[in-house]
Amino acid sequence: MQKRRFISVVLVVLTALFSSGCAEETVDARVARLHKKMFTIDTHNDFSMWLAHPDGDFGVKGGQVSFQQMQDGGLDAAFFAAYQDQGPIDPEFHRFAREYADTLILLLKQYAEQNSELGAVATSIKEMKALKKSGKVSLFLSIENACCLGDSLPLVQYYYDQGVRMIGLTHNGNNAIADAGTTKVKLHGGLSDFGRAAIAEMNRLGIVVDLSHASRDATLQATQVSKTPIIASHSCAFSVRELSRNLTDEEIVAIAEKGGVVHLALDAWLLRYGPNYSAASLDDFMNHLYYIIDLVGIDHVGVGSDFDGGGGVIGCKDMSEYHNLTKRLIEEGFSDEEIIKIWGANFLRVFEEVERYAEEQR
Ligand SMILES: [Zn+2]
Repeated sequence: MQKRRFISVVLVVLTALFSSGCAEETVDARVARLHKKMFTIDTHNDFSMWLAHPDGDFGVKGGQVSFQQMQDGGLDAAFFAAYQDQGPIDPEFHRFAREYADTLILLLKQYAEQNSELGAVATSIKEMKALKKSGKVSLFLSIENACCLGDSLPLVQYYYDQGVRMIGLTHNGNNAIADAGTTKVKLHGGLSDFGRAAIAEMNRLGIVVDLSHASRDATLQATQVSKTPIIASHSCAFSVRELSRNLTDEEIVAIAEKGGVVHLALDAWLLRYGPNYSAASLDDFMNHLYYIIDLVGIDHVGVGSDFDGGGGVIGCKDMSEYHNLTKRLIEEGFSDEEIIKIWGANFLRVFEEVERYAEEQR
């Protein structure tokens, strides 16, 4: 008995010491500890646009994305999109879109090679984890607007072989795959037959399906058609900011029920109303985050900055400032486990399922 009591006393003392130690951990120390331990993933940026056109005028800020900024902000991995503007649905445009996407993918690979001391292209969770271990960041390739597929199914395999691991079905125009959220006239009533076949092919190969920019019907249908969870790589909540680009409650619930994730954009236009929208800050981001967590829970939210394509808010204006977001989550009272989920564990769960399903098909 005495021995047991002694052990109990020791445990109480140790617990007290441990607790007081935790209480003394500063917010900055907790931010540093978390970023060292957890996997952090940002599912959308438009860096490739600036690589292709360094002097371009896109009406949005550039210079928010680089391997160095990822290192400075404690970000382990990001999906770098090969973005294409929508043109007419015809063979000539499809050829152009494919050549353009190929060029952007090539430029992203060259960027990674030229900055190999800081990071590299990754094509799997395994590769990403190995890169983190060696202190390097991961560049995952994605496509924003699958018009580069035209209406040719073998091109899904072609882009998989190029290293692409996520495909956003549309941008702001209807294409051969699906209707876009922002168009007045819809072509397919959601997904086309080719779009359904393309999703099946993406599932078979191991490519994450991204529904940001797609129409409501296309998103809801994709949650039915896809064999694996889907995501929205950079969208916010329509109920907080009414915009055709943002997701309705019905879409958010459907994505969550499928096991997917809504990656909230750090994009002022998507976050905030009014002429003063550019004053959007992490406060606005938190409003959308809380709304979606209240609706579907902590397991279905993530981060998709949209940096270099409209992203950037007060408090987190480029990739070097991600620590501020972690700091804010801590100050809001989120637990370590919850922060780890938001920053990457939720997406890893989806990606693991996508990889596992593809593996089973081989
Ligand atoms: Zn976008």
